Amino acid sequence: LHVDHPLGQGQVIALTDKQSHYLFGVMREGEGSAVALFNGRDGEWTATVTRAHKKAGELTCVEQAAPQLDPPDLWLLFAPIKKERTDFIVEKATELGCARILPVQTEFTNAGRIKQDRAQAHAMEAAEQCLGTYVPEVTEMQSLMQLLRGWDDTRRILFCDESLVGPAQTLAQLTPGPWAILIGPEGGFSPVERDMLRSLDYVTPVSLGPRILRADTAVCAAITLWQSALGD
Ligand code: SAM
Repeated sequence: LHVDHPLGQGQVIALTDKQSHYLFGVMREGEGSAVALFNGRDGEWTATVTRAHKKAGELTCVEQAAPQLDPPDLWLLFAPIKKERTDFIVEKATELGCARILPVQTEFTNAGRIKQDRAQAHAMEAAEQCLGTYVPEVTEMQSLMQLLRGWDDTRRILFCDESLVGPAQTLAQLTPGPWAILIGPEGGFSPVERDMLRSLDYVTPVSLGPRILRADTAVCAAITLWQSALGD
């Protein structure tokens, strides 16, 4: 369960209505049950239910079960697609270890605005499901061009360029440092965007292999390949 409170020995955590309903109504936990907790900073903690009220439960921290595991300094920039597929992307990027998820509007992006709350809740659920101790921030959707204008060029961009179909070898030769993976929409990148990206010296265009992947597949493949080259 993700909570906002600091976690430490003997710390008492007051649960929200929603968390209490989930634990005592849905999961049928009761007083004395053990619950795994994390807050994104203090690792995973085992807590005991000390008050099982369906609207106002309370937990008490017992001991740390696992240390905090932060992801490597990897961001994901992606052009949102259909709702369910966007949910999938947020979920998989969280599971595979991205520190920050940034939806971007590109020329061929069909999806309108994404619901940032919904996406953030998805990231939280994904972290809970995979017993992660970190929830990546999902930012508001912003234009790719604007984002590039204010970009801090010490973070390099791994530009997954579908027009470069060929072996995905470049990814094995990446050098360590802060990175952001960029994945385009179903329609790919426009020639203007591609030229602009290729002209920037902090952008590394890469192929993910000889087949054109769906955007959601490309996200999983790119993060996995990056993790294999530079992750922990
Ligand atoms: N409409 C495009 C086309 O037919 O050329 C395909 C776009 S693809 C469905 C969506 C995104 O996934 C691309 O913009 C790119 O970022 C990434 N992608 C898919 N396959 C790739 C590959 N083989 N190499 C690099 N990136 C790829």
